[in-house]
Amino acid sequence: MYPSINDATEYELTHSKSIDFVIPDGCLGTGIEVLTHLSSLAPCPDLKVCPVSSPQRQTPPPTFHIHVKDSEVTVSLYLQSETLWFMPLDRSFASPKEVKLPSFFVFASDQTVLPPWRPGRGSGFFKPGQYPVIVPKSHVLLEAFMRLHARDSGKRIGVFAMPMIGYIEEYVDEDGFLETEQLSEPLATFYKELREGGKPVRQWTEELKEALGLLENSGLESETSSLSSELGE
Ligand SMILES: [Zn+2]
Repeated sequence: MYPSINDATEYELTHSKSIDFVIPDGCLGTGIEVLTHLSSLAPCPDLKVCPVSSPQRQTPPPTFHIHVKDSEVTVSLYLQSETLWFMPLDRSFASPKEVKLPSFFVFASDQTVLPPWRPGRGSGFFKPGQYPVIVPKSHVLLEAFMRLHARDSGKRIGVFAMPMIGYIEEYVDEDGFLETEQLSEPLATFYKELREGGKPVRQWTEELKEALGLLENSGLESETSSLSSELGE
């Protein structure tokens, strides 16, 4: 019903050499300052030709990126308002050891939630004892891809979202690592519909956009993610 998993795999192979961080918009200046002072990183040699900042990208570009010296790996900063705008994120996560994480975030080293390395399934959880890294749980990632698909469908940078939804379905959900009951509405219903495959994707996309208030003349997005209520717990 949507682009095959081969597309997603090809996408991963050609675009995965990046360490990506989502930060609160107000922390952008601090984030850039921290990265530019690390001796292992070097400024982008040429923003005009660098693939990371290319207008030909099929994913939303980072707001800032920097290169790991003697490597093809880049480190990118994405603004929360452009990626995870539907959920709370604040400066307290800058010192995560002192923070009780909301239930939709998890430490990247949390072996009780994240799987170990599995063949063909990525690196698995981080080794414990390293610098604390916070990652969204898989259902939040799925919600982000669905919202980005609805927001950017029809644009070049929107091409990646549907293969990534397929990737999560096939590699995460089918392996039992997606808590679909944690998905908020209307995303849960739409994801179920997509899995069942009874509807053309174009129609499904239009209905998703309408449900999220993204169609022209349908007003501002009015539904409130249930995630927001978890802030401050
Ligand atoms: Zn670059």
